[in-house]
Amino acid sequence: MAQDCLFCKIARREIPSDFLYEDESVVAFRDINPQAPLHVLVIPRRHIEKISQLKREDGDLVVRMITAANRIAAEQGIAESGYRLIFNCGVDGGQEVYHIHLHLLGGRKMNWPPG
Ligand code: 5GP
Ligand code: ZN
Repeated sequence: MAQDCLFCKIARREIPSDFLYEDESVVAFRDINPQAPLHVLVIPRRHIEKISQLKREDGDLVVRMITAANRIAAEQGIAESGYRLIFNCGVDGGQEVYHIHLHLLGGRKMNWPPG
């Protein structure tokens, strides 16, 4: 756990956020600057800076993140219309917050390739 990390603070509920899901290993909340009608961030409770640091020993953490996103997408009624799941990694990947997070974007047609 990192004392000064924004997303650790959100996971500890020290910063008010619009939570959509939580369990023992992950937390999900709405992005403060949504890029789609539904834009949710799914984060592990454990502080890991970048997805590039993920190891086999981290087990099913990413599966838990993805299944949380799938569940939210279904609850929000976009499971059939579709959605996009994104990990930004590092500077060129567009990562701004260095606590890994899965973006769930949906509710509109996404563009490809991404910018
Ligand atoms: P990144 O660019 O690191 O992949 O994504 C970081 C995301 O965090 C951005 O989409 C940004 O809008 C979101 N974000 C930054 N600060 C906050 C905050 O305090 N609360 C919430 N809910 N989202 C935030
Ligand atoms: Zn953190």
